[in-house]
Amino acid sequence: MHFKQDFFEQLEGFYSQVYPTPLSQPHWLGWSDSAAKLIGLAQPNAELLMQLSGNIAAPGARYYAQVYSGHQFGGYTPRLGDGRAIILGEAIGPDTNWDVALKGGGPTPYSRQGDGRAVMRSAVREFLISEALASLHVPTTRALAVIGSDLPVWRETQETAAITVRLAKSHIRFGHFEFVCHSESGDKAKLTQLVNFTLAQHFPHLSQDTAGYKQWFTEVVARTAKLIAHWQAVGFAHGVLNTDNMSILGDSFDFGPFSFLDTFQEGFVCNHSDHHGRYAFDQQPGIGLWNLQRLAQALTPVIGSDDLIDALNTYQHELVSHYLKLMRNKLGLSAEDNNESDLQLIGQFTQLLEANQLDYTLSMRKFGQLDMTSKSSLLRDDMKDTKAYDEWFSLYQQRVGHVADIEAWQLTRNQANPKFILRNYLAQEAIIDIEQDADTRKLQQLQQVLASPFDEHSDLEHLAQRPPEWGQGLILSCSS
Ligand code: AMP
Ligand code: MG
Repeated sequence: MHFKQDFFEQLEGFYSQVYPTPLSQPHWLGWSDSAAKLIGLAQPNAELLMQLSGNIAAPGARYYAQVYSGHQFGGYTPRLGDGRAIILGEAIGPDTNWDVALKGGGPTPYSRQGDGRAVMRSAVREFLISEALASLHVPTTRALAVIGSDLPVWRETQETAAITVRLAKSHIRFGHFEFVCHSESGDKAKLTQLVNFTLAQHFPHLSQDTAGYKQWFTEVVARTAKLIAHWQAVGFAHGVLNTDNMSILGDSFDFGPFSFLDTFQEGFVCNHSDHHGRYAFDQQPGIGLWNLQRLAQALTPVIGSDDLIDALNTYQHELVSHYLKLMRNKLGLSAEDNNESDLQLIGQFTQLLEANQLDYTLSMRKFGQLDMTSKSSLLRDDMKDTKAYDEWFSLYQQRVGHVADIEAWQLTRNQANPKFILRNYLAQEAIIDIEQDADTRKLQQLQQVLASPFDEHSDLEHLAQRPPEWGQGLILSCSS
């Protein structure tokens, strides 16, 4: 790893220097070849293991925890910060640079009552989901590796500590701007400094003046809208959409009790401490806007409110048009200017899935097997209410129209509708094997299918299945 230290050198006052606390008996649980390529690494090795578990220093690394604040479940917490993530700097990659962070690296000045650690099960989940979302073409932070240890940590019971090595193009969150704006030390000069740094690093095409700032915020709105459109299309619920978990680059960020939908359920809540369903699946689009409004508020010292409002007003259009683009591709609808009726057609289909208690991913995948000339299909076979389905299908058939090359059409559907997603019960099975027998084979199998989720994997077909009874609506512990 070769590091650059722009954040560290240019944003003094936005972090605290802190060294990781070593993990004892570290061992690789998982390694992502494709993430490694992003920062020019080849294979894992013993020295890297010692570096990334905090046992020895990595040459060129600085060690720091960033300070930020955020709205958590609607309420403002004036000071959060990296309570258990320690950043080493920006690793220089062949295409772009990536912050390297040790999540679970030990206590920092922002740990509050926490121990600065992550338990193995949550580290493994973060590792798997980061790489799974990337393979689904959803904007996301990445995970180079997950490192296990024999260090005991206490949650509801005794568990062991682990580190996820996170790669992020930036760790700057909405909460960074909120911290500067709302904290006592925050002033306009400091906010301008942070905005200019963000522009220079990540939006270099924009000028550092009033016009550039407006364009920047408009781009942040568009990226956030696009991110959430992706989640809605792929059936992903993040679970903790606090403003401190919102990346300024519009990447999926900071994973906790996330879940893909198994059975389609619009109001699905994956976070069992989210008693009011604030972060329910169907609330995500609205929450994205709410979070952007909090960011806009924090930016008022440097961007005029008319400009902020103009940008916020583009959110809905960006979200809907991107969602439509993704869903049209999944269903095989040509791009046309009939947004309202297409949204209705898509909504009627998801209602059918909900009413018939069908799996979202597996049902979508069956679009790749429709032959379009007849109403009978695998999709229809799953429906309890075939009458309602037939009514929907005839509207759909009319909308799709004549398909000249059905094989090519089916192939395109299969490239838009994944067969494999990270189902909670599968992650859970992999975690249990590691806990009980230090056996990482299931984790590796999951990594394999999730790395190419649109392909068939005939020997690992079982990893595409709906959860068995024990794995339905799995309640996962929130403590991570
Ligand atoms: P999260 O829910 O993971 O986004 O965390 C919210 C805040 O709590 C962040 O500031 C984290 O750094 C902090 N935090 C979460 N878990 C721990 C822990 N075990 N030790 C210290 N800080 C933590
Ligand atoms: Mg967080």
